[in-house]
Formats: sequence, structure tokens, C-alpha cells
Amino acid sequence: MSYILIFNCGSSSLKFSLMDADSEKVELSGLAERLGGNGAEITTKCNGDKIVASLGNGSGHQEAVEYILAFLKEKGYLEQIQAIGHRVVHGGNKFKSSALIDQEVLDQIEACVPLAPLHNPANLIGIKTAQVAFPHLPQVAVFDTAFHQTMPETAYLYAIPMELYRDHNVRRYGFHGTSHRFIAEKTIDTLGLDPNDHCIISAHLGNGSSLASIKNGQSMDTTMGFTPLEGLVMGTRSGDVDPGIVKYLSTILNIDSYEIDHILNTKSGLLGVSELSNDCRTLWAAAKEGHHGAQVALEMMNYRLAKKIVSYIVPLGRLDALVFTGGIGQNDFMSRKKVIEHLGFLGYHLDEAANEATVGGAEGVIATSETFGQALVLCTDEELMIVRDTLDVIACL
Ligand code: ADP
Repeated sequence: MSYILIFNCGSSSLKFSLMDADSEKVELSGLAERLGGNGAEITTKCNGDKIVASLGNGSGHQEAVEYILAFLKEKGYLEQIQAIGHRVVHGGNKFKSSALIDQEVLDQIEACVPLAPLHNPANLIGIKTAQVAFPHLPQVAVFDTAFHQTMPETAYLYAIPMELYRDHNVRRYGFHGTSHRFIAEKTIDTLGLDPNDHCIISAHLGNGSSLASIKNGQSMDTTMGFTPLEGLVMGTRSGDVDPGIVKYLSTILNIDSYEIDHILNTKSGLLGVSELSNDCRTLWAAAKEGHHGAQVALEMMNYRLAKKIVSYIVPLGRLDALVFTGGIGQNDFMSRKKVIEHLGFLGYHLDEAANEATVGGAEGVIATSETFGQALVLCTDEELMIVRDTLDVIACL
């Protein structure tokens, strides 16, 4: 048996899982939370057993990784792990694909810290502690941004002075790349599309949401930009707003750009508009009871999503498949219905029964258009993509 260990580090959390490289089944998984703070703890799941253990107040990523090392040893997996795959949020324009981690790659991830000041430092901590704990294992970085590096200039540039791009790397990068790439490959398999001739829109709709236009396996455009704030209405992120709001708010509220950024990232979107929740389940229940904020928030999310889907056909020139994925895409059949209704003029016919049945891990076609192909639901699996990439990279060693 051989296994790949997957690490996904946040600033105060560490998610890990161990996947069987052949069967692609998750053997065990876990989540360390509140790292660096009070109540740092780790939850592990293995063979149906769930164990919550305290790591001790103030324990950080290092203690979490040490715990994982001991846990893997105790369960008898340690000797069979082939490599570690790390999710890394930002690879700037340096990484167009996943990379074997060496000092040069570490330096380049470090160089991208200004572009992702919250995420990349956490990813680096995860990699460095894993290198100490598992010095014998090859480690691979899988970047959220890499898939979108194929976007043409017209899609990735902002219409701002070019020196801001040249001197300060201000451009659109896009995120969720690992998910969009997984979905493109799964769509080709599921619908039997030609791997060299296909046009797909992947709609990853979760707490964070983005669309990607994918032509012949390459990302042509995506809705997130310099940061994950751009684009669709999300759980707590505003999506597109007029940047003129920033100066206006800083003047009338006497707050700085950091506070405005905080408002747009954490207090906006579904939560900001509904004044209730960022969770679609709560919002649909409230909307049914007549909560106006919830009704408007959901309407806005779906109306703006449909508008963006239409515009994302432009980079493709045609459309074979529109794929819904992510927590909302895979489960919220009412939102999918609203979006397909908005797109009715493209000739989509919704199969209501199929739509309502396609929840909780079920997959399948929910609508068809003679001209624009099929709309379907597929479950994304970023961890599986990380494992496949890690195996591809270490195969070249
Ligand atoms: P993240 O971006 O954090 O990975 P997910 O992809 O897990 O998020 O999506 C989480 C969101 O999915 C929830 O906030 C909720 O809005 C939505 N969601 C999950 N299950 C359902 C459901 N059964 N019905 C409607 N929405 C759901």
C-alpha cells in the first residue's frame, strides 16, 4: 500500500488527510484548530472513530504536525507514506503547475507573500514544519492560482496604468484553480467530451465562489482577480463593487483601507445584504418565512451569477457544459433553479425532478439546451487533485 499525505494550512488551522494512492480513498483525516491561541485542539477521524485532543494553549502548527506524526506512527501508516502534497494559495505568475518543493520553490512562495499576506505565510509554516517532521519525504506544492496562468493578457490585465502591473504585479490571478481543473477533467469524462475540443464553464459556489471559462483544458478567464474578493456575490465577500466606494467610505466614516477591505471581505455578500447569515440553508428557510433581507440576498446572488455565466461564454465562443459544484453548487437546488430560469433565453430546459434529486453528493445533468449543451452538478475534490498532482510530480524523480 502507498499513501499520500495532504496538508492544507490556514493561519490558525491545519487540515490533513491521508489518501490511498491506488484506490484514491481517504484513510484518515483531521483538523487542528485555534492554533497559536487558547484552546488549540486537533480532531482526527479514522475508521469511523472521531477523537478530539487538546494540543495545549498556545500550541501552533509545529505541535499539530508532531501530533499528526505520532498519530500516523501509532496507526501504522508512517512507513507507507510516499509524499506530502501541500495546498498553497498563491503562486503569483511564477507557478503554472504544481512543483516539487526545494529551496528555490520555497523562496518563490515567500516572494508571493505580499500577494496573499494571510495565506502564504501559513502555507510556508505547514511546509517547513512538515519538512522537519518528515525529512525523508518529497513534498509537492499545489497552487490555487496555477491553473489560471493560461489566461490571455486581455483577461488577466486590469485597465490601469501598465506600470502597476510591471512594477507591482497588479493583475488578475484567479483562485479555486485546483477545483476548476478537477471539474474540467471530470466533465470531459462524465459527458464524453473531446479532451482537445471542449468549452466548459465551471461554477465553484461555496462560501467563496468563482466561475472559470475553460477551453480545451485551459483556463481562459475567471471571476476572482488580484484577490478572491472580485467577481460573484459570496458568503461574506461583496464580489464586484465600484472601487470609488473605498475613497467615499474612508472619508465619511474616517476609516482606513484595511477596515474597508475587512468590511468587503467579511461583512458583505449574503451576510451583509441579508443582515442574517452567510449560509444559504439559513437564508432559504428565512426567505420562506418572509425575511426580506434573505430574499434579496439570494435573489442578488443568483441574478448576478446568471449575468456572469452569460458573459463567461464570450471567451469560449460556444458552450458544451455548465457545471455547478461547491457547497452551494452541489446542494442548493433552489439557487440552481433560479439561475437556470434566468438563463432560460439560452434555451435551457430544467429537469425539476433531476435538479431536486441532485443533492448531498449525487451528481448528474439537471438541464439541457440545444445550443449551449448541458447543465450538470459534479462534486469537486481538491484533495484528490492534490494527490494526483503529487504522484505526477514524484513520478519524475
Ligand atoms: P467553502 O468555500 O468554505 O469550502 P463550501 O463549498 O463547503 O464552502 O460551501 C459552504 C456553503 O454551501 C454553505 O455556507 C451553504 O451556503 C452552502 N450549502 C451547503 N449545504 C447546503 C444545502 N443543503 N442547501 C443550501 N446550501 C447549502
